[in-house]
Amino acid sequence: MIPLLDLKAQYAGIKAELDAAVLKVLASAQYVLGDEVVAFEREFAAYCDVKHAVAVNTGTSALHLALLTAGVGPGDEVITVPFTFVASVSAICYAGARPVFVDVEPVTLTMDPGKLEAAITSRTKAILPVHLYGQMADMDAITAIADRHGIAVIEDACQAHGAEFDGRRAGSIGVSGCFSFYPGKNLGACGEGGMFVTNDDAMAKTARMLRDWGQEKRYHHVLKGFNHRMDGIQGAILRVKLRHLEDWTNARRANARHYSQLLAGSRQVRAPVEVAGRRHVYHVYAVRSHDRDGLERSLQEVGIQTGLHYPVPVHLQQAHEDLGYRKGDFPVSETAAREVLSLPMFPELTPAQIEQVVAAVEQEAHVG
Ligand SMILES: *Cc1c(COP(=O)(O)O)cnc(C)c1O
Repeated sequence: MIPLLDLKAQYAGIKAELDAAVLKVLASAQYVLGDEVVAFEREFAAYCDVKHAVAVNTGTSALHLALLTAGVGPGDEVITVPFTFVASVSAICYAGARPVFVDVEPVTLTMDPGKLEAAITSRTKAILPVHLYGQMADMDAITAIADRHGIAVIEDACQAHGAEFDGRRAGSIGVSGCFSFYPGKNLGACGEGGMFVTNDDAMAKTARMLRDWGQEKRYHHVLKGFNHRMDGIQGAILRVKLRHLEDWTNARRANARHYSQLLAGSRQVRAPVEVAGRRHVYHVYAVRSHDRDGLERSLQEVGIQTGLHYPVPVHLQQAHEDLGYRKGDFPVSETAAREVLSLPMFPELTPAQIEQVVAAVEQEAHVG
């Protein structure tokens, strides 16, 4: 069996370091926030090349704080894409604002800047591009439009730890950036976790208060805040893993290169495109096929696990019916949702496994 991702292999590679880090927190009794979380914030800010990092309990909470610190509230509109994990949109609803969608580009499946301007209204308060699969959206074009209208750009970098756009790190270009440390993400906790990053001193200060019940000091609540705090154990675990992240990212990139070389000229699938100047960190390696469901089935039959990211765009999800969108509104997203298939992708994946997956993909022609 070749899994889609293999968290046990990752743990086996760093078991001694990770076990020691967890035991240290158990002994310290700093179970919520604490020294390990503070140190992780400092190290992750440096990694992202930003001034401030505020650790939270999920990526969704980071998005929630990013929207609130950008001044988003009821009556406002926030522009994002329908081809994303639902949390990008849920966070806008948490903030009491209305999600407005623009379609994605056909090649990168990230926000299409050519369609952005038409979606801007007098109520638009923020633009939330998603760095899908680990490749950054066209931040030059998006920030140029946002700047012209005086609208904040918030980066959903939940899949893009260490990704770059013209040498600039994900999370460092918008007014703020949001990361998830869900276990399967490129940098994953052993549980839930997230991070809000910004270069803005005031936003960082507000986010820090909001994540911890709006307190400036204990039991003095300046703002109506939340419990969005990170656990001490997760902070300690993430510090250990952050030290390995560049090696893991390079391994993902090498695996993607190997896949793409083998799949060049394939008649079965189209390999993902890495745009020049963008460092793709391959959270997901998604190919496209006109017979996606058939391919999924035939790979499953030979023991190859695949994923669907994502089979239904958010504008067609029942939960968001109230937004009033219909089938046909975002054709690029709708086509992508029918065609994408995520192949096994994790740092420990071997060249032989990649060759086996590609052989099975190319075999599919004969199955039908
Ligand atoms: C994972 C993810 C989130 C949410 O992160 P959680 O930590 O699960 O709350 C948001 N946006 C995108 C694009 C994601 O992939």
